[in-house]
Amino acid sequence: MKRIIVASRNAHKIEEIEKITRKYGFQVVSRDDAGLPKEEVEEDGKTFEENSYKKAKAIWDICHEMVIADDSGLMVDALGGAPGVYSARFAGEDGNYQRNNDLLLALLDGFSEENRGAKFVTVITLIDPEGNTIVARGECLGSILGEPRGEGGFGYDPLFLPEGYEVSFAEMASEEKNAISHRARALEELEKRLKEL
Ligand code: IMP
Repeated sequence: MKRIIVASRNAHKIEEIEKITRKYGFQVVSRDDAGLPKEEVEEDGKTFEENSYKKAKAIWDICHEMVIADDSGLMVDALGGAPGVYSARFAGEDGNYQRNNDLLLALLDGFSEENRGAKFVTVITLIDPEGNTIVARGECLGSILGEPRGEGGFGYDPLFLPEGYEVSFAEMASEEKNAISHRARALEELEKRLKEL
């Protein structure tokens, strides 16, 4: 079985990638389980593509095996695509979801429903042992609510109303979110591209 090393440490993401890639005969291994160095890559790219490539390449440079890395975020139309690649640290502190959401609501204060358009984006980069690269992008369109709704999910989920739905990501069951999310769509795209490999 060919192994595929996942740059992420997020068990949920690793499991999602595992479900897709095992159909193609790959065994998924996390970077930690593969015994790779622990240092983090600086996510200083201007695009999701740059950051996911940077994360994948840093690991590929060490092992020259099949590697996958992803990068995600929220893009708000009225904010010119912000927070984008800065989604995790929008309000300054990395991973402080409460402060990020408060800032987003404050910046959109007074904006009408039709001016609150947004999308979640995920880009996955796969590099094969020969150095060939596949890039798969997934998007989920929607809008930003006027106040948080729901307890599920993480990050901006309580503020995100996916297009065609009456409930926020945080009000959905995780299976329902996972069926339409940006990550799911990027994985679908990756699956199509893997068939070509
Ligand atoms: P990551 O690249 O997947 O770690 O995502 C970076 C940041 O984007 C996270 O810290 C969240 O703030 C935001 N984000 C990405 N995906 C989601 C999601 O599915 N729901 C809510 N927030 C998300």
